[in-house]
Amino acid sequence: MPAMFAELSAALRQRDEAGLLRRRRELATPQGALVEVDGQPLVNFCSNDYLGLAAHPALIAAAQDGAARWGVGSGASHLVSGHFTVHEQFEQAFAALVGRPAALSFATGYLANLAVVTALVGRDDAVFADKLNHASLNDAVLLSRAEFKRFAHNDVAQLERLLAESTARRKLIVVDAVFSMDGDIAPLADMLALAERYDALLYVDDAHGFGVLGDGRGTLAELGLASPRLIQLATLGKAAGLGGAMVAAEPVLIDWLVNAARPYIYTTAAPPLLAQAGLASLRLITEGAGLRGTLRRHVAAFRGAMQACGAQLLDSATPIQPILVQDNQHALALSDALRERGYWVAAIRPPTVPTPRLRVCFSAAHSDEQVAGLCATLQELLRA
Ligand SMILES: *Cc1c(COP(=O)(O)O)cnc(C)c1O
Repeated sequence: MPAMFAELSAALRQRDEAGLLRRRRELATPQGALVEVDGQPLVNFCSNDYLGLAAHPALIAAAQDGAARWGVGSGASHLVSGHFTVHEQFEQAFAALVGRPAALSFATGYLANLAVVTALVGRDDAVFADKLNHASLNDAVLLSRAEFKRFAHNDVAQLERLLAESTARRKLIVVDAVFSMDGDIAPLADMLALAERYDALLYVDDAHGFGVLGDGRGTLAELGLASPRLIQLATLGKAAGLGGAMVAAEPVLIDWLVNAARPYIYTTAAPPLLAQAGLASLRLITEGAGLRGTLRRHVAAFRGAMQACGAQLLDSATPIQPILVQDNQHALALSDALRERGYWVAAIRPPTVPTPRLRVCFSAAHSDEQVAGLCATLQELLRA
């Protein structure tokens, strides 16, 4: 046996004993408010399908049309022979929706983050990043070899000190717009002002804001921010219900990504049928005021009920609603107890987050009854 196998088994055992072993649960139904998981029906409070579009009939029909029109595989990377008319249309429609002159589509958000950061900065440059940024942004900075300057969560004063003392050639501020494990929104207006003062660019990962905030156009629209210095990432696997990602920015920047971003260049283009479904998704997002209203109603009901029972919420006005708990085992025990009662809520533990928590995610697909049922069950479990 290779020596490594014994080491890996020991490391897995160690994680298991610490309550940190990860395993996948298997869905036998499409994504939605009610799913069948490992044979059990569960009300799902741990997807990012905020608008309930992942299995929406209009998206299914568009994907089917797309498959009939374009086939399934793209057959090549965008720069070789995998860039289709429908990719182009999707990019233009996205750029128009978010009010930017150009956009570029990617196979995943993870790849888009690697692409943008590594194409814009290298050894002589510096990236300024919030400590709670998504793992894909951290990986992107490491891959870029730029100097990695991290500031405490949302600490604009520390960001300013780091920018002021930096002698780097290029400066890139990188931040989640909505923090994926906390649900709070970054102080982007202050950060944009700093980007202007220190001639930096501001890259905003809006994985959780696009489709949800700013009438669907995302966090920057919600905050009324616009500037050529802004680069905006929307991932499409969350509210958009698809998979993939879009980066919107000035045309010179998009042209540079096409020419220099290795994670864009050296991967097969996403299937064109997804771009066709994407066009349908953008229409549903544009017309989605009712869905966003439902989502806000669920969040308000949940926060009211949890405050009433003394649960430790975070300051989040988004569909991501964490409840902090004492330790890993308590998080797991609560998640297990919820599952026994028919509710699926993720226990999120280190190293994904600094402190263990339940992470409740709301969707417009939930009914008021499903949300009320979750609240009553959580109140009972947290009191016990
Ligand atoms: C989900 C997520 C990503 C990755 O996007 P994928 O399309 O799933 O690869 C990047 N950043 C943040 C903040 C995310 O939540």
